[in-house]
Amino acid sequence: MNAPHRIAVEYEKPSSFNVCSTEQVWASVPEEPNAIEREELIAKIKAQLIEKNAVLVAHYYVHPDLQDLAEATGGLVSDSLEMARFGRDHSAQTLVVAGVRFMGESAKILSPEKRVLVPEMDANCSLDLGCPAEEFSKFCDEHPDRTVVVYANTSAAVKARADWMVTSSIALKIVAHLKAQGKKILWAPDRHLGNYIQRETGADMVMWQGACIVHDEFKTIELEALKKQHPLAKVLVHPESPAAVVALADAVGSTSAILKAARDFDAPEFIVATDNGMMHKLRQQNPHKTFIEAPTAGNSATCKSCAHCPWMAMNGLRNVLEVLEKVGTGHNEIHIDEAIRARAKLPIDRMLDFAQQAGVTQPSSIDSQVNKGIGPA
Ligand code: SF4
Repeated sequence: MNAPHRIAVEYEKPSSFNVCSTEQVWASVPEEPNAIEREELIAKIKAQLIEKNAVLVAHYYVHPDLQDLAEATGGLVSDSLEMARFGRDHSAQTLVVAGVRFMGESAKILSPEKRVLVPEMDANCSLDLGCPAEEFSKFCDEHPDRTVVVYANTSAAVKARADWMVTSSIALKIVAHLKAQGKKILWAPDRHLGNYIQRETGADMVMWQGACIVHDEFKTIELEALKKQHPLAKVLVHPESPAAVVALADAVGSTSAILKAARDFDAPEFIVATDNGMMHKLRQQNPHKTFIEAPTAGNSATCKSCAHCPWMAMNGLRNVLEVLEKVGTGHNEIHIDEAIRARAKLPIDRMLDFAQQAGVTQPSSIDSQVNKGIGPA
């Protein structure tokens, strides 16, 4: 009765020579618990978090139950970097990271002394899967004159090969800063975000050609048609989306920037091009506004991700409870080779130091840029 639903997920796997192949993996999405089981699971998780001195941190894209539970128990719902920073600064010795695997790794990189658990070890990311460390390292070797800047959605091993790590919320500022220093950039892994940054900064960038399977699917013609049906709606777009979709946006930015734009724009309706897990927080924070999912497929066409990440969907109440009940057994615990962890921390620390010096207490600089119309607003 509780068997997870297995779905095939295709993703693009570029090589160092920019030859792209399509690979397939499986994602096991848990069945929804019924109302009685749901309440029981929530009560048990609350008790386990206290008993095990643990805190739950969740990404905006996971199931609403996990987002609400994280907040109700003193945890956090946020983007990947804030999740890792919150876990580092929290007194709990065990962190349960509801998101995807690289988020667990980021938490471990910043908190090596803590136990970091993930509900599902196979919860992956097409950007991470599509940028294997060995291939990426060859790509870097081919461009020794370039500063290596990688996105947060990468493995610890790829971060360990980088000079800088950035999130979508501070990428523009850091690349503009490097350009001003006369640096040429090697960017990985998301090609759409990389192209967006290149357009905005004019930096000299070579790019790994990865893509997010969710954001890559948003469709321009259908979005234009939806805008006509909702002429008062503002369009909010994550920059992992294709350039033609970004060009239709009123605001472009990270998850935190999208939340801010939804609060700040005085509009009754919004069309949102990012994972539909975001709708929960958008609707919670803006109960009198209407949020509509941007289209991922045309009339009678099919979609692959249908605007929801299959790996984020692998997180559920049952596997969160399971990791808590098995604390101390090694079940779903993140381990990173210490040499890789220490090296991977350098590009993260560099970004955090930059954010602090630039007066960005939280690296969410696109937030301020959204309303200034930076990006194709
Ligand atoms: S939504 Fe895209 S970028 Fe985020 S975890 Fe899923 S595949 Fe990766």
